[in-house]
Amino acid sequence: MSKIMSVNAGSSSLKFQLLEMTKSKEEVITEGQFEKIGLPDPNFKIKFNGKKEEHVVPQVKDHADAVAILLDALVSMKIVKDLKEIKGVGHRVLHCGEKYNDSVIMDDTSIAVVESVCDLGPLHNPANLIGIRAFMKALPGVVNVGVFDTSFHLTMPDEAYMYAVPYEWYEKYSVRKYGFHGTSHKYISLEAAKMLGKKSEDVRLITCHIGNGASCAAVKYGKVVDTSMGLTPLDGLVMGTRSGTIDPAVIQFICKHENLTVEEVTDILNKKSGFKGFTGNSDARAVREMKEQGNYRADLILRMQEKKICDYIGSYYVYMGGADAIIFTAGIGENSCETRENVCNRISEALGVKIDNELNAKCVRGVGGIISTPDSKIKVLVIPTNEELMIARDVIRVGKVELED
Ligand code: AMP
Repeated sequence: MSKIMSVNAGSSSLKFQLLEMTKSKEEVITEGQFEKIGLPDPNFKIKFNGKKEEHVVPQVKDHADAVAILLDALVSMKIVKDLKEIKGVGHRVLHCGEKYNDSVIMDDTSIAVVESVCDLGPLHNPANLIGIRAFMKALPGVVNVGVFDTSFHLTMPDEAYMYAVPYEWYEKYSVRKYGFHGTSHKYISLEAAKMLGKKSEDVRLITCHIGNGASCAAVKYGKVVDTSMGLTPLDGLVMGTRSGTIDPAVIQFICKHENLTVEEVTDILNKKSGFKGFTGNSDARAVREMKEQGNYRADLILRMQEKKICDYIGSYYVYMGGADAIIFTAGIGENSCETRENVCNRISEALGVKIDNELNAKCVRGVGGIISTPDSKIKVLVIPTNEELMIARDVIRVGKVELED
């Protein structure tokens, strides 16, 4: 039996999912997370056989410690008989700069590459590397694969990824648009092609990953040609705590008037803007409830997010010369019938998009499907994203893991 571990390591956290993969089956066996690694009161949650267990761990010194505790638990809880059943580990890694347009096997060379672009992902890349090193040490001989949030977007043409700033900024510092959520955009674009009964090389898709973080991508014949996030995830759509695109001159203006540094204002744009900046709450459900109760700012910020999603859909439709489907995913995209309905109604007149309200209402809590009417000019799909599965599939493909039938 081949089991693949999918890992997302943060600075003080480690999320994991263990999947059983055969030629015909992809099944999650267990999942969970460590929080507060290296801090007081760490915790370790693991879900197995439908039961959620919370383990009190007096101390989790570092990520290596967390990995050791996890592997012990897998054996002691009889989730695996032997750690040799784990044939590969896939790691979500934020950034690979311009280096890899696909997932790669982690070795000294690729680790050095991820290290070399740490200034492009200063919060995430170092933590991702700690996770990779911890698993390499704990499971020697097992293949580790890095799956980058930016890779899928590396097919964008220069005219889409360059900024019109002094060219030397690109040459010296690699300042350009990279885009994020690539694993999710890739997963839903492949699934969408399957749902449409076509090859991904034959369809033009507009993928909308609308969660706390949010981004859209134009995926033309299997390749990203534009996306809404930029050098960092701050750009593009209105999000839970991020502003999305603003005039960059706002930063200097606010620095002057509020006597703040550029770092402080950038932090506010990342953590205290978007839904949170208007309503005090970053959670879309809470904001929607405030709107229902007549709160003007909640109503406004939701309309602003919907308008912005439509701006990207319109722009990508024109850039790709049409679209076969628009796909919604992530927390809001998978669950908010209102956001989907409002976006589709706004683009209905221009693009001939029509949705079926009954079908739309059915697609919540992990249920996906086609929500457009048969006569809609563009199909509209809801597809629950599954980055862990995409990572596990990449481990098998890139790490050449042999599967049983
Ligand atoms: P994610 O970052 O993908 O986990 O998405 C988180 C966002 O999804 C939060 O803003 C949640 O409020 C939102 N979300 C989850 N369920 C719903 C729902 N039923 N209706 C609206 N938004 C939801």
